[in-house]
Amino acid sequence: MLQHQSIQRIRAQVRQWRVAGETLALVPTMGNLHRGHLHLVDVAKKNADRVVVSVFVNPLQFVPGTDFENYPRTLDHDIEKLVSHGIDAVFVPEVESLFANAVQSTTKVSVPELSNVLCGRFRPGHFDGVTTIVTKLFNIIQPDVAVFGEKDYQQLVIIKRMVADLSFATKVLGVETIRESGGLAMSSRNQYLTQDQHENAINLYKVLLGIVRRIKALRLSNALSDNELRCIEQQSLQYLSDLDFKPDYIQICDATRLTPATTSTKNMRVLAAAWLGEARLIDNLAV
Ligand code: AMP
Repeated sequence: MLQHQSIQRIRAQVRQWRVAGETLALVPTMGNLHRGHLHLVDVAKKNADRVVVSVFVNPLQFVPGTDFENYPRTLDHDIEKLVSHGIDAVFVPEVESLFANAVQSTTKVSVPELSNVLCGRFRPGHFDGVTTIVTKLFNIIQPDVAVFGEKDYQQLVIIKRMVADLSFATKVLGVETIRESGGLAMSSRNQYLTQDQHENAINLYKVLLGIVRRIKALRLSNALSDNELRCIEQQSLQYLSDLDFKPDYIQICDATRLTPATTSTKNMRVLAAAWLGEARLIDNLAV
């Protein structure tokens, strides 16, 4: 497996693969790899001849005062996992090489309609940081395919929209969330949880499952109304608060527009974000 820090070197490598007529998939990550990330790698391998994984803790997507400094960085372990997963190259750029000008004053890419709702309301500027770094990675690697997790559902929808709006040639694939045995979505931030909090954290998934079941049952009995949808959200927020979560939001949404779902919404998705101790947990389910 090749390991490149330099933009020039990874570009030269990509050029070689291109000349040989090979297709390329990119899996962008912030490292601290777990089974969820490795599942994206497996999907990438099935969809292209060559796979590049990027590992970069992106300062642009951390709201000031949050966990950028403390975010778990485990590059040696990540590389071992990637070697045993048989990928072709890992791209580990340094902040200084990616941002020739000061990080905060860099040119930004923004998908405003989708970035200021849900998590965007609580993490101003976060999604602009994501779309800006993903644009840079797409420009450097020029992948045929890029693989993202449904775990970060709003991010996935925003990137798909950005790719359509800016006519990128990259196809974006969304991959299902990998969960621990109890149902908790795997996340690098789960390690901020104490053991008790970790056991409690599973309730976020259970609440989402409960919401999906309720909506389906109401639909079957023709009793679903817009009012009922908003009631379910309110009751679920209260339930999580009673369990010591500090929820940011629970919203039943249109799966592509991310607007609040109504009874006429065909594709619904339930999305939630809640703090438990030091960890901000996010999760979502299709209805
Ligand atoms: P991150 O390193 O947290 O930025 O995540 C990198 C990629 O892995 C993103 O596309 C995430 O959506 C995806 N990802 C993170 N956790 C999971 C999971 N539990 N299952 C599937 N994909 C995930």
